Amino acid sequence: MTLLSSDHFDTLAVHAGVEPDPATGAIMTPIYQTSTYVQTTPNEHMGYDYSRAGNPTRTALENALAALEGGRFGLSYASGMAAIDTVLRLVRPGETVICGNDVYGGTFRLFDKVLADYGLRFVFVDTADTAAVVAALDAGPARLVWLETPTNPLLRLADIAAISAAAHVAGAWVAVDNTFASPALQRPLALGADFVIHSTTKYLGGHSDVVGGAIVLNDEAAHERLKFLQKAVGAVSGPMDCFLTLRGLKTLGLRMLAHCRNATAVAHFLAEHPAVAQVYYPGLPSHPQHELATRQMSGPGGMVSFVPRGGEAAAVTVACGTRLFTLAESLGGVESLIELPAAMTHASVGGPEAAAAGFTLDPALIRLSVGIEHPDDLIADLDQALKGM
Ligand code: PLP
Repeated sequence: MTLLSSDHFDTLAVHAGVEPDPATGAIMTPIYQTSTYVQTTPNEHMGYDYSRAGNPTRTALENALAALEGGRFGLSYASGMAAIDTVLRLVRPGETVICGNDVYGGTFRLFDKVLADYGLRFVFVDTADTAAVVAALDAGPARLVWLETPTNPLLRLADIAAISAAAHVAGAWVAVDNTFASPALQRPLALGADFVIHSTTKYLGGHSDVVGGAIVLNDEAAHERLKFLQKAVGAVSGPMDCFLTLRGLKTLGLRMLAHCRNATAVAHFLAEHPAVAQVYYPGLPSHPQHELATRQMSGPGGMVSFVPRGGEAAAVTVACGTRLFTLAESLGGVESLIELPAAMTHASVGGPEAAAAGFTLDPALIRLSVGIEHPDDLIADLDQALKGM
């Protein structure tokens, strides 16, 4: 790993993990598009034997991710879901996971529809309510507390420091899905969390051209186990995907500044618009956890959700009526996107099991991933779409 001592995020983002290629001097880590590596005698090689176990482009990305999250170890995966699944493999059948009832729909689906069948027990609570998490910890032994903060799509926050302190007293680990904030705005390990998880598909990659996931942690024994699982299970990221993500990381700080600036402008515009019933954005003083957002995050992020007046039909008209905001799933790219979570990204939390776990989504909720275009153009686009309702 690059011996970089800077405390400045932007310097780390450009340099961490990346060293001139030892073979050629190339200053950008090459795409080591190889599955295997020469051995001089059995098991004697230059550090790599097979690309499922390790690949130099992946090593550079993993070291960069660790540095940006302020952690000792980074692991890169084929998707965010693969990273989440791997952390859950540290939990044994019969053990309990306390999870937020407002997490990404795919996370709920994995927990409720896949991992519950393997004997893991899930307790869903409102993780914006620290007392509710503490009550769940008091109710019986738990192995892991799963937090997503801010949540997708309602932008609710969990108090990472307070919940980590309580979980550790109770003997539970804390994992934080940091996809929405990115390490440019929030460092869960410094606040006491044990694992940070990312869908690197989003802000870390930043250009909507790659799917990937990551885990960052400090604990050596847990890292050994995760490294073993990465090789044994095999959901690794390919060299081209690692290269694209590494390239995206370099501008993460700059991009997040623009995302925050634009989302703040959009959220204020929507909050004052007569055709809008409700706006969800941690940067608005009216957000119920605005104070926690300013304490825990260095910026409110680029995601804004809102409900237009007129119900689902009005929401569909708005989502289909924008010209600059593209109707599409995903988030975190430089271009602005619009979507209806209940019908699209969170369709898997529409069923009775999700309702029983406390998931409720207004079908009229619109989620915006605010890109880095000029804010005046973004506001003009939303204004004309809202007029078309
Ligand atoms: N976590 C969050 C907060 C997400 O929004 C997503 C995807 O939208 C994921 C995890 C899953 O990531 P991926 O789509 O890269 O598997």
